[in-house]
Amino acid sequence: MRVLRLGSRGTDVMEIQALLRKIGYDPRSIDGIFGEETRQSVIAFQRNNGLTPDGVIGPITHKALEPLLLGYDIYKIRSGDTLYQIARNYYTTVEKIVTANPTVNPYNLRIGQQIVVPFGIDVVATNIAYTYEIMERNIRGLRARYPFLEVGSAGRSVLGRELYYLKIGNGPNQVFYNGSHHSLEWITTPLLMKFIENFSKAYVQETNIRGYDVRTIWDKSTIYIMPMVNPDGVDLVLNGLQPDNPFYNELLKWNITGLPFSQVWNANIRGVDLNHNYDALWERYKVIAQQQGYGSPGPTRYPGKNPESEPETRAVADFTRNHNFRLVLAYHTQGEVIFWTFQNLEPPEARTIAELFSRVSGYRLGEAYGLGAYSGYKDWFIQQYRRPGFTIEAGLGKNPLPITQFDKIYNDNEELLLLASVV
Ligand SMILES: [Zn+2]
Repeated sequence: MRVLRLGSRGTDVMEIQALLRKIGYDPRSIDGIFGEETRQSVIAFQRNNGLTPDGVIGPITHKALEPLLLGYDIYKIRSGDTLYQIARNYYTTVEKIVTANPTVNPYNLRIGQQIVVPFGIDVVATNIAYTYEIMERNIRGLRARYPFLEVGSAGRSVLGRELYYLKIGNGPNQVFYNGSHHSLEWITTPLLMKFIENFSKAYVQETNIRGYDVRTIWDKSTIYIMPMVNPDGVDLVLNGLQPDNPFYNELLKWNITGLPFSQVWNANIRGVDLNHNYDALWERYKVIAQQQGYGSPGPTRYPGKNPESEPETRAVADFTRNHNFRLVLAYHTQGEVIFWTFQNLEPPEARTIAELFSRVSGYRLGEAYGLGAYSGYKDWFIQQYRRPGFTIEAGLGKNPLPITQFDKIYNDNEELLLLASVV
């Protein structure tokens, strides 16, 4: 990690600011700009942790912050330790420690044994620009405190980033949720990540969420979640075009809008719109797109040279082919609308399910038309399997939606995410 100091700017600064607030050193604004108030928060943190209070986040201070970013520490058992005492020292609970260490016997701690100690704070950040790096760290953090979570990769992006998926539940009814096909719509990634965190927490605590018994869902269903289908695009939108990007010159050429990538780029890093790269009336789409000026790589709507030409769409399609999904949700923004049809190929029950989703989310039902009606993931899923597939357009406003919408979006979609696994 780079050294952060007064004047530094970026998503990494934002992540630290959010952490400082979470652990009681509020820097006032979480804006990605390392100003005087952030410096004062860092100094206070350094003082309380026996570090040189210089207000700079160099390697040593970063090392002290890292476990907090991950949400857990590794602790080596010493003579006389009890989990109760360790939990107190870390401001956490014995239950959290026991969950994170399923093979450790609390009544027979061995000296020198290493255990995972989750902090009393939640892992998933919901108030910052949610980059691939942050997602990766959050996945590590969740996996450490909830070892029953299964994490895998369905493939790699053009630039080699992992296309992570997480699996919750262990039942025969398989469903699949994905987010961030479109770069500007990255808020759908923390939406799915937060759902995983809350679901896992409820599973451990044996509590209900919105009247849904999580243990019952766990036994009945398996929920596969791919929170970020387009990590290269999300990185471009959130961190800007970096000089070491292998498509640096091409991207400048492809972005004909004259506007910053952060405002316009929805495609993957090769300028292909991933949600128009599936084999569902793709040829027809291509002709219309060409007529409307989307015949070559660009920020949006270019469907690629052929269906599944991109490693991201290929990975999602392969992942789908390798499972037996009864239903899929593809999360996008915005419009507060649910799309549920494709060429009358959807099964009759799709309407009933869509109406239920509409009721629990407050979103209206829509039928896509024009360019929006072809070659998307849900289109392809409906066409191939004749099973219910949905595009959920979360939130309202102009993309990218501000992260301040997160709480409303989460609140509107939590029940839908639960219901989709049992409906
Ligand atoms: Zn979209």
